[in-house]
Amino acid sequence: MGGFFGVVSKEDCVNDLFYGTDYHSHLGTSRGGMVVWGKRGFERAIHNIENSQFRSKFEDDLRKMDGTMGIGCISDTEAQPLIIRSHLGHYTLTTVGRINNIEPIAKQAYTDHTAHFLEMSGSELNPTELVASLIDQGSSVIDGIRRAQDIIDGSCSMLLLTAEGIYAARDRFGRTPVILGEKDGAYCVTMESCALPNLDFRVHSELGPGEIVLITPDGIQQLSPPGTTLRICAFLWVYYGYPASTYEGINVEVMRNRSGAALARRDSVAVDLVAGVPDSGIGHAIGYANQAQIPYSRPFVKYTPTWPRSFMPQDQHVRNLVARMKLIPVFELIQGKRLLLCEDSIVRGTQLRETIDRLYDYGAKEVHMRPACPPLIYGCRFLNFSRSRSDFDLAGRQAIRELEGQEDVNLAEYAAPDSAKQQAMIDRIRTRLNLTTLRYQALSDMVEAIDLPKEKVCTYCWDGVG
Ligand code: SF4
Repeated sequence: MGGFFGVVSKEDCVNDLFYGTDYHSHLGTSRGGMVVWGKRGFERAIHNIENSQFRSKFEDDLRKMDGTMGIGCISDTEAQPLIIRSHLGHYTLTTVGRINNIEPIAKQAYTDHTAHFLEMSGSELNPTELVASLIDQGSSVIDGIRRAQDIIDGSCSMLLLTAEGIYAARDRFGRTPVILGEKDGAYCVTMESCALPNLDFRVHSELGPGEIVLITPDGIQQLSPPGTTLRICAFLWVYYGYPASTYEGINVEVMRNRSGAALARRDSVAVDLVAGVPDSGIGHAIGYANQAQIPYSRPFVKYTPTWPRSFMPQDQHVRNLVARMKLIPVFELIQGKRLLLCEDSIVRGTQLRETIDRLYDYGAKEVHMRPACPPLIYGCRFLNFSRSRSDFDLAGRQAIRELEGQEDVNLAEYAAPDSAKQQAMIDRIRTRLNLTTLRYQALSDMVEAIDLPKEKVCTYCWDGVG
């Protein structure tokens, strides 16, 4: 995934940039970057954050940098922001999204035999550099950004910093949020509104789908109006958004509480306690427990001093180790108990199976699972959610393959709520995970908990409607 933060101020902005970017750390685990514009021009720092937190890596830069405007990012893939010099002048760029048509765009760029790309990682093109090449084909920065928005298949939200200010652009269908903040003498732009209050910013507005603005120390100017089609990612609320953040006026934790309550309303299972799989399952579990009037407890706790992030490393081996080491059981709350666990979703189910097995090893009598969204059937096409994920890794797709004995099947039959095929798939997943019962959130309840009209929300992961 990834996230970004930018600030434009009449005074030095480095402190706000540092903490504002840090508040996006849950969105990526690969690289962090900050660029400021000051008396010395652009100053940039990029660090590997795979094994340590953003703040510890950038503390030294914080002391050295100074400037009144800056952009920062947390990236799950490439090193960013990039500093570019072209016929449009000197600028720095950071992007969040996914480009499905990288190869055709690159091929097109080579047609006059003058283009080349430098920021390669192995043989892979750097998507942010590719976006810069599209922008540079425009007659102005704004023309270039519009061009990039039109050409990219997937999604791309971006911050582009020049000596003039920050150009902020939300992706064409608003899959990811871009939020503007203000305080006396400064403006900021963020993907997570939770970055604002502790830096004394208040929400100014949210960009609409495809909207482009220029943020300068004197104000915010709209350069391109929002489009009419919004397809914001439902998973922001269900899984990866931070609980204190609000998008489209809807807070993440409040949505999760509503989602858990909806699960409980359709349930009648008798259990001793309700628990959330940390971190993103917790809000759903609290909603469930309150609605069902069953005690909320923590049968395992996360070792937060050293395992603070919820996103996982790309490497499956490391991921399994992290999943195991960060959760510590509380035996007294497990032995002889009937547990109901709320989880944001079941992706592959490999780690979950291990967690469930451990609960039985520690004496759990029953383990019931309530994921806060329907079974995942389609892999994301619009965000770099997890690069390694193949659609066939999904627990739902594995179950379908087992049931059908082949991969070429009509997935709509499995996505249809309460259909016999969906029930068979869920039962297969339940057996594989060794669960006493497994009941997924209904798509209609999930959308109702988000509280936006279905046509404004991307639900492609579950029903193939993007
Ligand atoms: S496909 Fe899934 S993860 Fe991707 S934008 Fe849509 S809802 Fe979000």
